[in-house]
Amino acid sequence: MLNYTDPLRADKMTEECGVFGLYAPGSAVARLTYYGLYALQHRGQESAGIAVANGRTIIGEKGMGLVAEVFADTGKLDQMEGHLAVGHVRYSTCGSSVPVNAQPLLVRYRNGALAIAHNGNLINGRLLRRQLEAEGSIFQTTTDSEIIAHLVARSGENDLTTALKKSLPKLEGAYAFILMTPDRLIGIRDPHGIRPLSLGKTASGYVLASETCAFDTIGAEFLRDIAPGEMVIIDQQGLHSERFAPPAEHAMCIFEFIYFARPDSNLLGKNVHLVRKRLGRRLAQEHPVAADLVIGVPDSSLSVASGVAEELGLPYEMGFVKNRYIGRTFIQPSPEMRALGVQLKLNPVRQIVAGKRVVMVDDSIVRGTTSLRIVEMLRKAGAKEVHVLISSPPVIAPCYYGLDISTPAELIAARMSIPEITKSIGADSLGFLSEEGLLAAVDLPEEGFCRACFNGCYQVKPPEDQWASNLTDEQTDGRWHCVGLHL
Ligand code: SF4
Repeated sequence: MLNYTDPLRADKMTEECGVFGLYAPGSAVARLTYYGLYALQHRGQESAGIAVANGRTIIGEKGMGLVAEVFADTGKLDQMEGHLAVGHVRYSTCGSSVPVNAQPLLVRYRNGALAIAHNGNLINGRLLRRQLEAEGSIFQTTTDSEIIAHLVARSGENDLTTALKKSLPKLEGAYAFILMTPDRLIGIRDPHGIRPLSLGKTASGYVLASETCAFDTIGAEFLRDIAPGEMVIIDQQGLHSERFAPPAEHAMCIFEFIYFARPDSNLLGKNVHLVRKRLGRRLAQEHPVAADLVIGVPDSSLSVASGVAEELGLPYEMGFVKNRYIGRTFIQPSPEMRALGVQLKLNPVRQIVAGKRVVMVDDSIVRGTTSLRIVEMLRKAGAKEVHVLISSPPVIAPCYYGLDISTPAELIAARMSIPEITKSIGADSLGFLSEEGLLAAVDLPEEGFCRACFNGCYQVKPPEDQWASNLTDEQTDGRWHCVGLHL
């Protein structure tokens, strides 16, 4: 499924969600959650929602579109009174892009009301859904997120944390959940920590968010990341932590550093902008290019491009201007409109690139379609040479953990060699960052990351019905390996 909201993202690994939760008595929690979701908007633009609780009930408001579109009437926020809230921005990788799938999901079961916000993808989601349906569960949505509600409801436990401890081990895959009852907020991260979730402190309580940039937006202080396999519970008694799974191999998605996260966020204690600058320096060391200037594809590649320019001793220029104001309904899903969509979003600055040997930096090449259009635009604007540097290794294997690449056939690097890709995108040269270079630049232990889309090694076994013929039968080194790829 392509994301037509932003044609530049149609050729990327695309993140599906941002989650935000706030427990802050005496604060305008709905409005603060709205600001928090604004900060997380880059993680999903299809739908947005906020639910607020006041100790007795939960009310929610959600809809299709950007945060500013769903809450265009900000007066609604002032009517949502309470002392805890949960918010969500969605990009669908599982379940259709329809209003009923927007989150937070509000459910009522025998122990009361529950709001659920989820980021990630359950590898065994379809299997669990089939089993639950066979046992009589009726699903309102087609999202994975509803599965946890049914598991909790069927657990037979009255206490929610006990019910969660019984239910969560049944989930396989990537998940960061924020759950809310009328008086409690609960943050949960999967045993591998594939998706990020951080904890912060406000003047009167606590905040949970996919990224720390949301804390800065509401004036909260970062406390720590939620540990893989941890559940934090925030209520009138304060904050306490429990484990629902033993520590497993930590495998945060390394694409958070490459592309998803905002440059002003910190992940695992590292600032994303500074990591991206180091990716750029390392990329330039691995692929020195004779050129006149360096430009980046906005926004995620600008930090990398500055690092490339520093290392090559070349001017770092604004080669493109990005139009940020194109609404989601403007670009229709036809090939012609997609081509036009790239031009609407991105315009090269002719006076900068004309007659120049240009190094164009981008964060990844997934399908290859957008890279071709961007290189063409630079040539039309008069660039003498276009050298493309990519701050990630070639993406050769699908992601099963919540991103929208499901088969190797969609991946240009799974089908073509680097010289073939260079030709197909019309570049004069093309260089990808090596996996070693990526890990060196991130400067954290290599076993702390999922890199499956670069090397075909998965911490959690991919669904057999989707790709069994490409999987080895046995695990080695505790991981599942894919064969039959350009490894
Ligand atoms: S395979 Fe792993 S590293 Fe690649 S996008 Fe998915 S979670 Fe991230």
